[in-house]
Amino acid sequence: TPVLQLSGLRKTYGLGTPLEVEVLHGIDLTLHSGEFAALIGPSGSGKSTLLNLIGLLDTPTGGEIQVQGRPTAALTDADRTELRGRTLGFVFQFHHLINAFTVLDNVMMPALLGGAVASEALRARALDLLGAVGLAMHANKRPNALSGGQQQRVAIARALMIRPPILLADEPTGNLDSHSADEVFALFRHFNQTFGCAVLLVTHDPRIAARCDRVLEMLDGELVRDTAGMQAPQTP
Ligand code: ADP
Ligand code: ADP
Repeated sequence: TPVLQLSGLRKTYGLGTPLEVEVLHGIDLTLHSGEFAALIGPSGSGKSTLLNLIGLLDTPTGGEIQVQGRPTAALTDADRTELRGRTLGFVFQFHHLINAFTVLDNVMMPALLGGAVASEALRARALDLLGAVGLAMHANKRPNALSGGQQQRVAIARALMIRPPILLADEPTGNLDSHSADEVFALFRHFNQTFGCAVLLVTHDPRIAARCDRVLEMLDGELVRDTAGMQAPQTP
């Protein structure tokens, strides 16, 4: 079963108002377990809208999203939240870490929000993940004591805490220098390979997109290119 299947996905903003505008015009897309895909396209082409729909943060006006074979259109808000909390890891451009909590507590947060008890096993998993992103020694610091690249690495550890089969990232390297961006990209690749989670990564950086296994390109609300099954694009 594909981890993610979109069929005829449409999104209209301002439905029923004079400002009504359709920004996704029927997207078909299948993402398989362990795939590593970049989503590219100019500003305003619909990438964030698409990612919000896939992340079950917003609902489509037409078409269907299946997560691990499970249709989502008829889900209640509570079921949608539950499915999101079990299957989707998020990494944003601005990592939204909470400075009132330690790095370790930030990493544990998604599991705690999902109803897990703050057990020693959960703590151990969070520490493992912080180790894997090279930040175990910073576990008890506040996020704002770390560099931007380090904070983004914490956000990646946090996203993996629920062991998601799908990792969604919106411009995760957008405000990083190229060295930190490379480190963050290497971590996505590492977790994709060791945990087998599918990665869908929105990026403006052609260097990053060229290193993904599959490139999806959006233009004016449509998918205009998909390199699936083709040779990976060569870096110059
Ligand atoms: P991208 O992420 O590729 O920059 P977006 O998904 O943010 O594209 O935007 C796609 C189109 O939808 C743009 O024309 C944008 O202005 C419009 N749009 C995005 N969000 C809203 C909203 N909440 N209400 C109305 N229009 C929106
Ligand atoms: P176990 O079943 O003993 O937890 P696994 O083989 O599932 O072992 O995982 C080995 C290690 O990798 C564990 O520390 C686990 O927490 C971690 N792990 C496995 N899959 C994921 C994932 N998708 N995201 C984050 N961590 C994971």
